[in-house]
Amino acid sequence: MPRKAEIFAPTRDAPLLTHATLHCKSLRMTGALRIVPLGGLGEVGMNCMALELDDTIVVIDCGVTFPDREPGVDLIHPDFAYLLENRARVKAVVLTHGHEDHIGALPYLLRDVDVPVYGPDYALGLVRERLSEFDWDRPPELIAIQPRQVLTLGAFSVEPFRVTHSIPDSTGLVFRTRVGTLVHSGDFKIDPNPIDGQPCDLPFLDEVARQGVRVLFSDSTNVDVEGSSGSERSVVATLADYVREANARLVVSLFGSNIFRLNALLRAAAEAGKVVLPLGRSLQTHLRVAERQGLLSRPMPPLISAENAQTTPRDRLLVIASGSQAEPQAALARLATGTHNQLRLESGDTVVLSSRVIPGRERAIHALIDNLERTGVRVVQRFDDPKLHVSGHACRDEQRMLIELIRPQTFVPVHGTYHHLKRHAALARDLGVPETCVIENGAVLELDADTAWLGPSAQAGRVHIQAGLELPPVVLRDRMLMAEVGMVLITLAVDSRGALRAPPRVLTRGVVWEDAERDLLGDVCGEAELAITKLPLPCDDEMLRDVACRAARRVFREEVGFRPLTHCVVLRSDE
Ligand SMILES: [Zn+2]
Ligand SMILES: [Zn+2]
Repeated sequence: MPRKAEIFAPTRDAPLLTHATLHCKSLRMTGALRIVPLGGLGEVGMNCMALELDDTIVVIDCGVTFPDREPGVDLIHPDFAYLLENRARVKAVVLTHGHEDHIGALPYLLRDVDVPVYGPDYALGLVRERLSEFDWDRPPELIAIQPRQVLTLGAFSVEPFRVTHSIPDSTGLVFRTRVGTLVHSGDFKIDPNPIDGQPCDLPFLDEVARQGVRVLFSDSTNVDVEGSSGSERSVVATLADYVREANARLVVSLFGSNIFRLNALLRAAAEAGKVVLPLGRSLQTHLRVAERQGLLSRPMPPLISAENAQTTPRDRLLVIASGSQAEPQAALARLATGTHNQLRLESGDTVVLSSRVIPGRERAIHALIDNLERTGVRVVQRFDDPKLHVSGHACRDEQRMLIELIRPQTFVPVHGTYHHLKRHAALARDLGVPETCVIENGAVLELDADTAWLGPSAQAGRVHIQAGLELPPVVLRDRMLMAEVGMVLITLAVDSRGALRAPPRVLTRGVVWEDAERDLLGDVCGEAELAITKLPLPCDDEMLRDVACRAARRVFREEVGFRPLTHCVVLRSDE
């Protein structure tokens, strides 16, 4: 009878809790399989995990996440230091599906670690688009794999299997190794009747389970949602109804990756004799890749460009737009504020939001809805019509079903916040799984055929990208500080000994309105001057900068109540 054990390894400050019955092993046992999460565990987004055995490291997914408050940052990817340090052993990246939180970071990994990428066709189509935005001496090798196609990567034999999700061609992965079989669910739901006719491959999983599964990794996203996620079929039928019934402009906003909904809209438009305007970059990318791979429904309705939208009769126009999260640059946000260059919505038009609200976007989405409704546009969202969206992730009943089917020796919840992981582990324990492990990014789980334990941790973190380049943490810290408290620059002209040759000058940005605060700025200069004249001569630049900045910060704190980011430039000359 296996031991009952729980392993908890939250990375942030919290104490490390290991269940007393667990084996304590000394550092790095040879022959153990190492599970190294680099992203997506303890957060939603940026999924990336390394599996390591003998001389082989295989990376599962390589995704990004998006900033909530870091100004100017385009995207965030996992810190790849661990993979760079061990690059000689990294054999491949294997992708489960094409969502950004699973593929978006590939360019940033592949430019340093030149390994082949295996994945489903649709994911690779999107990867190809993304890689084309970068310069490559030699383009990365992308190799399509089909469900139930076995691939040998060093110490691992990998076999993808079909799962249902909100993007075509989604898979989970089975890894067979000498320490046992590992099953990774990918992002999944269990829909017995999916639109593409390719349900989650439960017969295959049943077969795998019969031979015994060492570890199950499973998608935790919807662990707080009772019941089942529901079928996409009800959503596409609803969307088609909106297209048929619209007698003015209809704008449907969705995630471009949901080709099932896109097809339903295109089909309904073709049947109703409408023309379609696709708006938004990600939507265009998905249309292009889906078209290339023969995934779009036929016959297609005429697609028009934005220049012709305003002159198209209102009852003939269907606009499909990305930007359902009210991203400020997206076309939908511009339509809402009436600042779109080519199209202006009017009273009587309808906007349908066929998506969920991603946590953190509530305020922006409320503002978007307000802006639309102020112009008389009717907005329909999930609250008005629950059939406008179903989740692509398994809810509790489906999560339960997978655990019961696989009956793993060890359960490792993935794809979720710490709370999601913890609750998913509890579900597995309730279902009788002997061992559950809650690990966050950087915590390393090691295991052999019988036992699991925590190994030495790996470096994990977040890398912020702006315009394709990395923002060093110190730059980001300064920027965030500047956003909060503004910046002050003091200039000191001194002679060779360090004595002031002119009164200090001060420049501020984002601190006070300089025109109205001449006296305050005069005080800053006066205080800095006073402090400097007290210094013994000769004195060096560092001393001058330190004294001037301290004097300035003191005045600001007293006068405006906060201390701006303060810098000082010393210009030394005797002339
Ligand atoms: Zn996904
Ligand atoms: Zn995901």
